Formats: sequence, structure tokens, C-alpha cells
Amino acid sequence: MTADSPDATDQVDVVLIGGGIMSATLGTLLQQLEPSWTIRLYERLDDVALESSNPWNNAGTGHAALCELNYTPERKDGSIDITKAVTINEQFEVSREYWHHLLAQGALTDTGFLQRTPHMTFVRGAKNVDFLRRRHETLSAHPLFKDMEFTADPAQVAAWAPLLVEGRDPAEPVAATRNAAGTDVDFGALTHQLIDSMVARGADVRLQHEVRSIRRTRDGGWRLKVKDRSWNAPRRVHTVTARFVFVGAGGGALPLLQSAGIPEIQGFGGFPISGEFLRTSNPEIVARHRAKVYGKADVGAPPMSVPHLDTRVVDGNSYLMFGPYAGFSPKYLKKGKYLGLITSLRAHNLTSMLGAGIKNMDLTQYLIGELVARPETKFATLQGFYPEAQPKDWERITAGQRVQVIKRDANGKGVLQFGTEVVAAADGSIAGLLGASPGASTAVYAMVDLLGRCFPARAEAWRPHLARMMPSLESAAADTLTLAGEQHGDAHGMVLGDGAYEDGAVDGGTYESVEVDARA
Ligand SMILES: Cc1cc2nc3c(=O)[nH]c(=O)nc-3n(C[C@H](O)[C@H](O)[C@H](O)COP(=O)(O)OP(=O)(O)OC[C@H]3O[C@@H](n4cnc5c(N)ncnc54)[C@H](O)[C@@H]3O)c2cc1C
Repeated sequence: MTADSPDATDQVDVVLIGGGIMSATLGTLLQQLEPSWTIRLYERLDDVALESSNPWNNAGTGHAALCELNYTPERKDGSIDITKAVTINEQFEVSREYWHHLLAQGALTDTGFLQRTPHMTFVRGAKNVDFLRRRHETLSAHPLFKDMEFTADPAQVAAWAPLLVEGRDPAEPVAATRNAAGTDVDFGALTHQLIDSMVARGADVRLQHEVRSIRRTRDGGWRLKVKDRSWNAPRRVHTVTARFVFVGAGGGALPLLQSAGIPEIQGFGGFPISGEFLRTSNPEIVARHRAKVYGKADVGAPPMSVPHLDTRVVDGNSYLMFGPYAGFSPKYLKKGKYLGLITSLRAHNLTSMLGAGIKNMDLTQYLIGELVARPETKFATLQGFYPEAQPKDWERITAGQRVQVIKRDANGKGVLQFGTEVVAAADGSIAGLLGASPGASTAVYAMVDLLGRCFPARAEAWRPHLARMMPSLESAAADTLTLAGEQHGDAHGMVLGDGAYEDGAVDGGTYESVEVDARA
């Protein structure tokens, strides 16, 4: 009997909402840990990986802190804080180990989603050159970053990435770091493989099915109302009950968690930021650049808008991509409704949402500036990286939609933050992921963390299995991850990557989260 037949008793152990990298990772983990559990995945679109996990909606950087300046803020005394860089690097290693394990097992069959692509940081101007030199000295003293190279010699930069130097004023001071072990990841291809493997192991994946509401059942489980969006659906809406629900709906997670009515979602809001990339497939240009080159964010720019010129490999073809240019759209999903932002407003989050918009004036100004910027102005940013870039070679593509988390802090004040936040009910029966950074790269760590907090009674039994699959898990978790060791302090909400994008840039371009009084 199928769920759509009129009198179906539609009951599963686990419902995963959304067919992105997070649900794919969690579903795969659960199948390994509890093979007897029944799993249903609902995706509202025609295929999986069409929102943020799609390769053209994200930048595909395997974030390991090998090139991103925002993971290494400068302290007031001029020293460099590498704590976040170490954390992100360790968390990405956990992802790599898990993917390697799945390849060895045959659950993943194609390694094409992961391409070795050197990661570089490139800066201009004497002050930034000095910063990069000091940053390199600090980072390369740590074993995780010992292979990072530094140069302030334009000829060496040209040897690493010629497009950065050709046509540039030789008098301009430039510097770069490079780490050959960086990666470009096609998270869309990875998501497809993971979900295919879930289906092969018995998971029920339903495309064109949108979860519309989530309600508690008397026995502590959840009843979901699901709409079949296909044109020939025999029945438009059906209900399903589950013992555990994961809201992996990306930008759609906030309204669904609100619909579930768990107290833990109170005070949370979301601020959508859209984006654009420039892309070229001109083979002569693409062949001359093999790296992900991250620069420095503009003053006021949100940290995720750090410009970068990237090699992208999608479906076996190579491209260059530059961006992202930030913008504003009230949608929570790229293929979602324009009313996303408006309909997520509640009495408990109104003040913090409105206040965050008003008080983050540098961000507001930056977004307005980006929205009204002429194409020539935007293209000039690319030419800051690649002086000889020609508009005829580049096309604009719309990036994925990000929903930055607005939450109340311990003092009841609202803060706009740039990390990823797991929100879980106190009894662990439902959990969801808010926010976008550092994102897909740390999906495995995020999902192991979620498992530990939602299933504490099983942590002891699962731990050895997880440790075999991901030997680095314990060191990556330090003392914060239930499944690797001690439980961290806040059982209901944890920022992964610890707001890693809060500190924006070097040279006074720091983006700070602004506190808003949500009690007013
Ligand atoms: C511009 C940009 C650049 C980025 N760059 C990087 C990068 O370089 N490296 C990196 O690691 N990360 C990057 N990220 C972040 C990364 O893309 C995301 O963190 C990750 O893809 C999120 O995966 P997800 O599964 O949570 O969400 P998604 O991939 O968005 O999947 C959510 C799914 O849920 C579905 N859905 C929504 N609502 C419902 C519903 N009610 N019912 C059923 N289905 C529903 C959606 O259709 C969607 O398919 C970037 C993101 C953006 C936007």
C-alpha cells in the first residue's frame, strides 16, 4: 500500500524534509547506524539538489580554512586568531573521511564530485600584504597549515595564477598564499549519489512533495501534512506520522519549524540574501586558472560576499566563476515564494527581525549599493582580481538564496549571525538546520552533532561505529560533540562553525554582528 492510497496507515520512523546535502548526509548516516529504521524523504521540487546544494547555486569550495580570510580575524594587538580556521579545517576533514568511507563501501561510486584545486588568498596594497605575511607566519606554524606557501613576489603569484598578475600595475604591492591540498566540491553531484544510495538501501524518496505543516501527535511523534505537487496526483494532500523529523529544508526550514510550534524556535528569524556569480566557459581562459582565489571583503560587505575567482568543475566540465555579488530578495528559497520573509514574521521574532534590518546599517547600505550598482561597476570588481577580464567572456548567473539567522542571545537581544544553527526540540524528536555557513563542507559534522543531541540514549552504541568511519571525529569535536565525547552546554541550539563568518575582513573591513533588543 502506498501513502497515497485512500486508507493508508502512513507511518515511518524518520521523515527528512528536503533533498539537499544535509538530508542526504543525515539519511545516509542513519541507514548505517540503524538499518531497520524506515526513512521517507520529501522534496518539493522535481529533483533533489536544486536549491543551495546545486553546483551553480553555491561556490563549491571545500571550506577547510585554506583561503578564507574571515576565519582568521586580527586581534586588537595585531596577532592573528586562528581558532576558527583550525575548527573548520578539522570539520572538513571529518567530511572527507566520511566520503572516503562511503567510497570504500560502494555507497558512493563516482569520485568526480571532489576535485583537487589549490586554494589561494590574494591581497593588494601594502597594509594587506603585511597582514597576509603575518597571517601566514601564524597559520603555517600550526601542523594543519604547515604546507601553506606565501609570496609577495608578483612573478611567483603569476606562476601560481597568471590571470591575477597579467595587465596589473607592477608598482602595486600584491601577495598571495597557496595551499595545493584545497578542493572544489560539486555538492549537487554528491547529494544525488547519496540519495541514490539511500534509495538502494530502502529509503522512500518522494519528489514534488511539499511538507505544508507539522503537528505533534499524542504519543510524542509528529504528523505531517504533505502536498503532492505533481500535475496528475491522485490525491493532493496526505498525512504521514514519524517518530523523528529532520527539517533539512534549507531556506524553508524556519517556517516549518515555526509550524511545529516547538518553544526552541521562538525568537528566531531569517534574513534572506540573494546573490549572483559571473561565469565563463571560454576554454582559453579556464585553462589558465586552476585555483580558488579568495580576496578581501569590502567594508560593510556581509562575510559571505568575500569575492573569489574559482575553478569550478561541474559534470566533468571546467568553468571559472567569480562572485558572489550580494543582493536582496524577500524569498527564503530561490524557487520559493516572494512572501517568504513576510510570512515568517511572528510576534516573538518581529522586534528582532525588524531591529536587525535597521541596526545593521552597514549591511543594509552595502546591499542597496549592490542592488543599484551598474554592471560596469560590478565587473570592475572582477578586474581587481583579473585585470584583463573582458565582459564578452562572462555571463551572469543567479546564485542560491541564503537565509541568515536572526536569534535572541542569552540577554534576550536579537543578533544577526552568519553561522549555521541546529534547532532541536528538547525531547530530540524534531530538529532543523538554520543558516548557511560554512555550509555543505561541514555537513557531516553538523549531522553527527544533530544525531548526538537528538538521540542521546543511543550515543554510546553509535560512537564506535562513527569513530571507525571518521577517525578524526573526536579531535574535531574537542569536547563539544555528544557523539564524540562530552555534551556541549546548550542542548537546544548550537552554532556550528561558531559564527565563523562574523568577522569579515582584514584592514578595518570587519563585519560585526549587531545586537538588537528583542525584548522591547
Ligand atoms: C551563494 C552560495 C554560496 C555557497 N558557497 C558554499 C561553498 O563554497 N562551500 C560550502 O560548503 N557551502 C557553500 N554554501 C552553503 C551550502 O550551499 C549550503 O549550506 C547547503 O547546500 C545547504 O544544504 P541544505 O540541504 O541544508 O539545503 P538545500 O540544498 O537548499 O536543500 C533544501 C531542500 O529542501 C527543499 N524544501 C524546502 N522546503 C520544503 C518543503 N516544505 N517540503 C519539501 N521540500 C522542501 C528545497 O526545495 C531544497 O531542495 C553556499 C551557499 C550559497 C547560497
